[in-house]
Amino acid sequence: MAEQESLEFGKADFVLLDTVTMPEFMANLRLRFEKGRIYTFIGEVVVSMNPYKNLNIYGRDMIEQYKGRELYERPPHLFAIADAAYKAMKRRSKDTCIVISGESGAGKTEASKYIMQYIAAITNPGQRAEVERVKNILLKSNCVLEAFGNAKTNRNDNSSRFGKYMDINFDFKGDPIGGHINNYLLEKSRVIVQQPGERSFHSFYQLLQGGSDQMLRSLHLQKDASAYSYISPGAQLKCSINDGAEFKAVADAMKVIGFKQEEIQTVYKIVAAILHLGNLKFSVDGDTPLIENSKVVSIIADLLSTKSEMVEKALLYRTVATGRDVIDKQHTEQEATYGRDAFAKAIYERLFCWIVTHINDVIEVKNYDTTIHGKNTVIGVLDIYGFEIFDNNSFEQFCINYCNEKLQQLFIQLVLKQEQEEYQREGIPWKHIDYFNNQVIVDLVEQQHKGIIAILDDACMNVGKVTDEMFLEALNNKLGKHAHFSSRKLCATDKTLEFDRDFRIKHYAGDVIYSVSGFIDKNKDTLFQDFKRLMYNSSNPVLKMMWPEGKLSITEVTKRPLTAATLFKNSMIALVDNLASKEPYYVRCIKPNDKKSPQIFDEERCRHQVEYLGLLENVRVRRAGFAYRQTYEKFLHRYKMISEFTWPNHDLPSDKDAVKKLIESHGFQHDVAYGKTKIFIRTPRTLFTLEELHAK
Ligand code: ATP
Ligand code: MG
Repeated sequence: MAEQESLEFGKADFVLLDTVTMPEFMANLRLRFEKGRIYTFIGEVVVSMNPYKNLNIYGRDMIEQYKGRELYERPPHLFAIADAAYKAMKRRSKDTCIVISGESGAGKTEASKYIMQYIAAITNPGQRAEVERVKNILLKSNCVLEAFGNAKTNRNDNSSRFGKYMDINFDFKGDPIGGHINNYLLEKSRVIVQQPGERSFHSFYQLLQGGSDQMLRSLHLQKDASAYSYISPGAQLKCSINDGAEFKAVADAMKVIGFKQEEIQTVYKIVAAILHLGNLKFSVDGDTPLIENSKVVSIIADLLSTKSEMVEKALLYRTVATGRDVIDKQHTEQEATYGRDAFAKAIYERLFCWIVTHINDVIEVKNYDTTIHGKNTVIGVLDIYGFEIFDNNSFEQFCINYCNEKLQQLFIQLVLKQEQEEYQREGIPWKHIDYFNNQVIVDLVEQQHKGIIAILDDACMNVGKVTDEMFLEALNNKLGKHAHFSSRKLCATDKTLEFDRDFRIKHYAGDVIYSVSGFIDKNKDTLFQDFKRLMYNSSNPVLKMMWPEGKLSITEVTKRPLTAATLFKNSMIALVDNLASKEPYYVRCIKPNDKKSPQIFDEERCRHQVEYLGLLENVRVRRAGFAYRQTYEKFLHRYKMISEFTWPNHDLPSDKDAVKKLIESHGFQHDVAYGKTKIFIRTPRTLFTLEELHAK
């Protein structure tokens, strides 16, 4: 169990609570928060409270205190978990992962950065240049990804609007030799609209605030963000991000990572082109669609290294294949606006993915010969969007909340279910602990043919005009009886379902009402081929490289691309499979209040998070459980020399009997249970003592 500093700070491990009840749990959480102790263990899980103030607990001295120590030897800290994952990887050659979860603003991204800093600080004692290079890039990549993927929201001034999973590869010495970043679903709709009180991605404001006069002039930009309609609503908002300073930090980081000058220039040309796109004004003259401000078209053409006529054509017409003929079909004003917005979103998203790929290219592990150097092991760090319940929930929240259902399912499988199943299998007396298994909700969303995503895809496949209402109708028909699904049509008396366009999912973390508006569009995610071709034909090689599929002409584009929801589903399934193959460590982040205040412990809000993170069940399973287990054979192999009955060999009928004798000879029998094939040890203290005896 965790070392107790002093009871004045509460219990350092929730497992030590006198009784496991919500009031006791909350009292301990509150006491520790108020005393500035933001971390608490549940066994190997770290519960983290956002302090909303800078604490002096991440310095070099602190790192030294955790380095190489056992998890329970020091007070709870992120460093303890990082060290445990690192040790498992180094000593036992296990691939490990650290899963950081919690709602928006709970401190996931900050935690992931401290973990990476810790790992960077404790590795590469030999100062090998290549390892230093990799570490440096891993650390610097955060600032670039945050500039392009984070935004001010009503919940968090630096909210990650994408999911991130980063693998760090280690060589046989335990030094980082490479890495890989996977990014998930960037909330690209933010490029064109934001909720009141929110901003678009930081990169736009950073460029305007931090770019030199000369740079802005070359991009045809002015400093005032309110001049650009895509981002103007957020122009005057106060944000704790220092846009000017960050711009410089990002430019430096890009250089360190190895972006070439023309690549960095292209990045900002794209950002600028998007700002200009938003200012285009369409109208119609009779039947002919027009762009009123043709000057803006030529600026966009210049920035994207293409011709004005081609930009104009892509904005006002689309090429369609009718049988063998190819014709240019005029857009209506509405279609032109739709196409323009889709284009702006797509080039931003493509830019973001390209940045990630670029970072991956320079840190990819190359020339590692496992036959010479042994296994290359991995620590994965997952920082992904937490559960979201907004006033207005759309397709993005639907995807994000589905992701959280998947991660909760993984947690259940790894921490709750597996644990209980193992005790059962081994015949260890065990009182079953109840928890809500959310598999039923995961199925509701992802099941083939029957789930919400399948129904949405079906609706999108229909030829002719499909509306969001038709999709809702299909949901009602197919899911009317599902216990976790409801809509106004299905329960007309339910006053919480205010609008006909709403449906509700009973998530494990609470009920969320989604508006179907935009589901079909966002799922189809159509970008006219004309825009792809426009980009592919750009004379800027960096841009051209981002759009390889623009090579195809309209008659060659035959395959329907996978929908956004299906792509997301596939990436989530792959992510969960990957995490499940690793030894997991968990950081569960809690947001103390909605005011970003270091003083307030909002009891109601905290309790809700404790509930849906399943922390109480976690404590119960942990308390009833055993910290360590090992097969009799392996256990003997390691510890047989500490007992005269087993060293050098034993003459007992089985390894199990020999282990029993060994344990009794040291007086540990009250702290263990004997399973069919494994010995189970309840407290880590016993294990430490065994290790000490072994080391003598
Ligand atoms: P989102 O899901 O919106 O990305 P998040 O969980 O990643 O949210 P963070 O961005 O990590 O949240 O944290 C939000 C803010 O809370 C930070 O910008 C910082 O001001 C504060 N914060 C979080 N963790 C800490 C910490 N350990 N010490 C000091 N401040 C913190
Ligand atoms: Mg974040």
